[in-house]
Amino acid sequence: MKTAVKTVLYSVFLGLVIWSVDGLFYWRFGPPDSLTEALFPTEHPHRLYLRGLVLLSLVVYGWIMGALTMREERAAQELAQMTHRLELILGSAHEGIFGLDLAGRFTFVSSATASMLGYDVEEMLGWDSHTLIHHSYPDGEPYLRDDCAILNAHGSDEPPRETSEVLWRKDGEPVPVRYTARPIWDNGQCRGTVVVLRRVSQDEPSQEELERLRRLSRLILTWAGEGIFGIDLDGRITFANPAASVMLGYDTDELVGRRSHPLIQHTDQDGGPHREEQSLIYAAFKDNDVYHVSDEVFWRKGGESFPVEYTSTPLRENGDVVGAVVVFKDITERKNAERELRQTLEELARSNRELEQFAYVVSHDLQEPLRMVRSYVELLGKRYADRLDEDGREFVGYAIDGATRMQRMIEDLLRYSRVGSRGAEFVLTDLSDVVEEALSNLTAAIEEAGARIEHGDMPSLWVDRAQMVQLFQNLISNAIKFRAERTPEVTVAAHPRNGEWVFAVSDNGIGIAEEQRERIFAIFQRLHADDEYPGTGIGLAICKKIVERHGGSIWVESRPGEGSTFYFALPAEASAARVRR
Ligand code: ADP
Repeated sequence: MKTAVKTVLYSVFLGLVIWSVDGLFYWRFGPPDSLTEALFPTEHPHRLYLRGLVLLSLVVYGWIMGALTMREERAAQELAQMTHRLELILGSAHEGIFGLDLAGRFTFVSSATASMLGYDVEEMLGWDSHTLIHHSYPDGEPYLRDDCAILNAHGSDEPPRETSEVLWRKDGEPVPVRYTARPIWDNGQCRGTVVVLRRVSQDEPSQEELERLRRLSRLILTWAGEGIFGIDLDGRITFANPAASVMLGYDTDELVGRRSHPLIQHTDQDGGPHREEQSLIYAAFKDNDVYHVSDEVFWRKGGESFPVEYTSTPLRENGDVVGAVVVFKDITERKNAERELRQTLEELARSNRELEQFAYVVSHDLQEPLRMVRSYVELLGKRYADRLDEDGREFVGYAIDGATRMQRMIEDLLRYSRVGSRGAEFVLTDLSDVVEEALSNLTAAIEEAGARIEHGDMPSLWVDRAQMVQLFQNLISNAIKFRAERTPEVTVAAHPRNGEWVFAVSDNGIGIAEEQRERIFAIFQRLHADDEYPGTGIGLAICKKIVERHGGSIWVESRPGEGSTFYFALPAEASAARVRR
């Protein structure tokens, strides 16, 4: 405004000067004889009109010039302001921004871009961008200008797409970036390109990778055999896969948007109400924790329930919990199989108990009549010896042998059946003491065979102490009994392995052929005649039963002619795993 007034005043002043100069000339060289008449000629009014016209023209001219100048000033001011703002943006933006002219030269560069690429802003301005920062692919292959996605954005009317590539720093290092390049249009003419970029970490998935992952997760959701649905913080279903909708009997549209609890979890399996506060599906997002549940039911649209196993996992977005994802499966078949298995096991345990009882009763009750048979046959042999011929005496001898052997077998059977039926409570037992006791019970046999016995550190475990003594005693006595020609050497050792203790009784005896190694743990199974190595074949069967009663397993490794190692493993659980000699 000030400029316009000033210009008008200058014009008025100029007009008045012209008026006065013309008046003076007119007075000096013209007819008027007074200065007043020369300045304001009344006799020649056309001169007055001419001067007035000049003055008016100058005022109008001044006014127009003033207005024009004012507009220019305002435009210049706005430009300065915009430039200032742009500089501020370029200086403070965290994202990299730069502009290129049509030849691909930098026209402006933000500080973030320059520092990301190791340059000063001034170093980049005016330089060809492709040559400076975009010349090669990550593997060092040259990046042709014709293929350059940034340069190709010039004049392109396609919508800008985010691209992942590397740019090159001043020091030669690649910088992985994601950028968008858009053309700058001015009155329908492309003036260049502006590029906005940000540095990405090497392992951040690219746009293509994200798209691939999206497709993959859609595929998984569609084809997964397990039901999968998502819920928001209000418990409303946000998505459900086909398996979920088939199992629940609803169309996906009927599920999405509805609260899951009143829809599929309203009632317990025993028919009582299942309150929302109890819902472990919702607990996942309330507690920000994963819940795995294996004994609940979901309800179908038709009104029936089915047993489910499910996992509810909180769903997080940018660190905030926004809901949960539930993965579930119908476990009707598994439940049925479990029930059948339980029934079979109970049946088995019952018949086992009955069998044990039977074996116990039979062997116990048989003892007495057998003892009688044996005594009377012995009596017969003694009292009527002189009346029997050679064959008769021989037959009596066989009968006594048979009865004796049968007695031993019955006793063994009794011992065997007692392992399960007469077992004692498990107590924390130092197995070093157990081994010592077994060895002291075997003193005579050890001395007689001249055997060398060694044992290492033993743990303390929760066991039936008497049965453990029997177990070690059976194994060590076999190790001595089935010796070869050489001096028997027996080692007893123990070592922990994956939550259990493995015990080993090794000898340098006759060994066992591969094909016999399973058989010897069965009841009354022997590999030798009684006169070769005495015994009934019950020892290892008892060992197996004791180990199994303790929740363990037993096996043998052997080299025929070199020796055998009998191993048994017992669970270390509930044991004070204290190693003592
Ligand atoms: P028994 O000792 O009364 O024969 P076991 O059940 O203890 O009965 O053993 C079954 C069979 O396993 C034995 O007859 C023997 O052939 C074989 N056996 C057991 N321990 C050993 C061993 N340490 N070395 C070689 N053979 C063995």
